[in-house]
Amino acid sequence: MNGYRGRFAPSPTGDLHFGSLVAALGSWLRARACGGTWLVRIEDLDPPREIAGAAARMLATLHAFGMTSDEPVVAQSQRQHRYTTALEHLVERGLAFPCACSRKQLEDSGALHVAACMPPPLGTAHAWRAHCADIEIGFDDAVIGRYTQSLRRDVGDFVLKRNDGLYAYQLAVVVDDAAQGISEVVRGADLLDSTPRQIWLQRVLGLPTPDYLHLPLVLDEHGRKLGKSLASQPVDAANPLPALRAALRFLGQPDQLGCDDVNELLRCAATSFDITQIPASVPSRIAGISD
Ligand code: GLU
Repeated sequence: MNGYRGRFAPSPTGDLHFGSLVAALGSWLRARACGGTWLVRIEDLDPPREIAGAAARMLATLHAFGMTSDEPVVAQSQRQHRYTTALEHLVERGLAFPCACSRKQLEDSGALHVAACMPPPLGTAHAWRAHCADIEIGFDDAVIGRYTQSLRRDVGDFVLKRNDGLYAYQLAVVVDDAAQGISEVVRGADLLDSTPRQIWLQRVLGLPTPDYLHLPLVLDEHGRKLGKSLASQPVDAANPLPALRAALRFLGQPDQLGCDDVNELLRCAATSFDITQIPASVPSRIAGISD
């Protein structure tokens, strides 16, 4: 194993479907092709959206598809203290502030958090938001190329901790990618426009910025993301080969028709894995933002 460390970080909000299989396979192949380590992290930050048993079923399905974490699986629900420390650090430096604005108030003020919400009256439930710098953040994605975003204009003061006490994905993912020494993040392009926020958080928290590779998104027939919440079909753990081949084709890779064994197919796919063949796609919602 060399210094490459990748990960697949599903939220346990449903069973593994084709879209999440593509993300798992893309990150696994990249890690194997680089001779590195592949980790699975369960992003169970949001209990109200969780489906009981989904995390265990996802891990079992990944196993049936020949992919198991090289190190013990980590669950974000067990790591709250790390997010607390990171948030405290930001608050101390004036980079996070309490905000009790409702969605309606924010709409009315054009999402501006000025004096109106600082500080919220004592005892008011409030979120913690990042004090976004007025800067452009860009990075070179291994598939998509250069992607740049103006944090203040395109995103605004984003939530780090919700007013129900739950930590937000943006903070947790940055803390955990650094804690796990992730050298490259491979994930779906729906998270492309989250990446500048994450790079900003890495910088202000003094954490390293990994490389990024965003995979094309699997869309349903209406052009919408194949979400776990939509009634998308779970992949069939009892018959992994057809879905694995389809996922390889989706990633622009040969579908290894000659291989009838899951592990052999994965081995061959890793050997011939070529990221220049992965179709680059920027979701239209995101393309609109950066125009
Ligand atoms: N947990 C996120 C999801 O399931 C993915 C996070 C990431 O890969 O950064 O959509």
